[in-house]
Amino acid sequence: MDGYQVLVVGAGFAGSEAAYRLASEGVRVGLLTQSLDSVMMPFLLPRPPFPPGSLLERAYGPEDPRVWAFHARAKYLLEGEGNLHLFQATAAGLLLEGDRAVGVRTWEGPPVRAERVVLAVGSFLGARLKIGEVEEEAGRLSEASYPELFEDLLALGFRFQKREGVVPETPTTPGYRVHYHAFHPEEWEEATFRLRRLAGLYAVGLCVREGDYALMSQEGLRLAEHLLHELG
Ligand code: FAD
Repeated sequence: MDGYQVLVVGAGFAGSEAAYRLASEGVRVGLLTQSLDSVMMPFLLPRPPFPPGSLLERAYGPEDPRVWAFHARAKYLLEGEGNLHLFQATAAGLLLEGDRAVGVRTWEGPPVRAERVVLAVGSFLGARLKIGEVEEEAGRLSEASYPELFEDLLALGFRFQKREGVVPETPTTPGYRVHYHAFHPEEWEEATFRLRRLAGLYAVGLCVREGDYALMSQEGLRLAEHLLHELG
């Protein structure tokens, strides 16, 4: 088949971790994300403890605590993994064959095909960011959230729950809140990561469960183990 064995949408904490582990085990992985400047970008710098052997642990560098430096180290590691193709695009909807997800349509144009599709889109589904009196469509500060994927999932019948995350003020950044949507618990099977409504479709990270960076990373690793088992 053309395309990837696994396509991960969203190079955040959960998606990057899963993609990195799968690729290191020889799986052909596509890691598509809407901006290469925000690969594994934290709200605030992650602090140990981290899952042993994780990408999160490897990207952590206490000698340079800037979030930007953390992101750069993670991106460098991902780009050095031979079976992993990290690229910039925005998923605008699922590509379907019958009741099976076989890839995504992208806002930029070209569709991307894969045997399995993982949604790891964090706080970006139907997101609104509030900073003082200002409100914008964003999943993180300076990171737009585009409506197409969320609208496509709603049109396919997926149900969601509203969630909120808060970023406290720091000496260099203002505090803000993000309102976003996560898949309704009945849509997702925790043991297999499957979104039950369609075959070949999985979800991981904040778009299905709440937690800190370490949990997102742990979940990415758990998903990778599950997919390695499925792929035989
Ligand atoms: P993310 O890390 O957000 O990654 C999702 C990625 O998907 C992003 O790179 C985004 O660009 C990409 N994406 C989204 N939609 C598309 C699309 N359609 N096409 C292509 N790419 C797409 N946890 C902590 O431990 N410490 C904190 O300080 C902390 N602060 C938080 C603050 C807020 C406001 C929120 C909402 C959560 C916070 N969390 C924090 C919880 C959680 O650990 C983080 O949100 C974490 O980043 C979630 O990881 P993720 O991989 O699920 O999503």
